[in-house]
Amino acid sequence: MVLWALGIGPGDEVIIPANTFIATAWGATLCGARPVFVDCEPDSYNIDPRKVEQAITSATKAIVAVHLFGQPADIDPLRAIALKHNLFLVEDCAQAHIGEYKGQRVGGIGTSASFSFYPGKNLGAYGEGGAVTTNDQHLARKFKMMRDHGAETKYHHELYGHNYRMEGIQGAVLGVKLNHLLQWTEGRRQAAARYRALLEPCDEIILPQEMPYARHVYHLFVIRVRNGKRDALMQFLNEQGISTGMHYPIPLHLQPCFAHLGYQIGDFPVSEELAQSGLSLPMYPELTEEQISYVADTIRSFYRI
Ligand SMILES: *Cc1c(COP(=O)(O)O)cnc(C)c1O
Repeated sequence: MVLWALGIGPGDEVIIPANTFIATAWGATLCGARPVFVDCEPDSYNIDPRKVEQAITSATKAIVAVHLFGQPADIDPLRAIALKHNLFLVEDCAQAHIGEYKGQRVGGIGTSASFSFYPGKNLGAYGEGGAVTTNDQHLARKFKMMRDHGAETKYHHELYGHNYRMEGIQGAVLGVKLNHLLQWTEGRRQAAARYRALLEPCDEIILPQEMPYARHVYHLFVIRVRNGKRDALMQFLNEQGISTGMHYPIPLHLQPCFAHLGYQIGDFPVSEELAQSGLSLPMYPELTEEQISYVADTIRSFYRI
């Protein structure tokens, strides 16, 4: 909806990180534009600003910065590139509700931003839901019309639109849950700190870094497992009753649905390595100290340390 409202369409290119959930790329595809992938940084796992500039062509219209796993992307260099090349900077905040970049909350930094309230997100509805944000009054008005069949006044359709209205029941649930988001986020941050303290001594895994500019909200706590042992550790944890995840096992440039874009294995080595070694440990606000210790102990017992 954001890209569509910005007028992006066939012939345009949109820069997107190679390691994200596929929905980030659908925005460009649904507008008829081409997603152009860029590798991520090895420390933040977010789009690498140094690699964005070389992906820009005369067709590029926007950069989508995903605040992946709950960690805000490095916005300042991205904004500088966007300004220099006259591009829109769009934020994908689906995993980073109330995350902060240099003290500023995500969602109000770029031209516009999208949020997901899918039940598994940091702020989740009891079904499907989402929102878009912008500080641009004209864009806000356009969004309001677009979500309601392109009309501001009933039956006067100024624009193409759709029915993007949120169901009332979801809004009601979200309105109540929103009041708890600060506290829940604190719970996630505390769980992350506990994991960190217990797992720091284990050289076999690489812990996620909180970048100096970021307030990470830990939608996911993704470790990297060294020496090709990710799948074995995952299976071991599963056998001990600990569910883990992979975010994401196949980077976007290697997904079959994007085969026509012509990317190959080796194009984005950092994203490809993360797909091979990344393991998401249990993460939610209600995780107890005992549960976290059990996860850490089980990981240590896998390595017999
Ligand atoms: C979940 C998610 C989305 C899409 O959210 P939906 O509500 O499922 O449409 C987009 N981008 C990222 C990074 C996500 O994690």
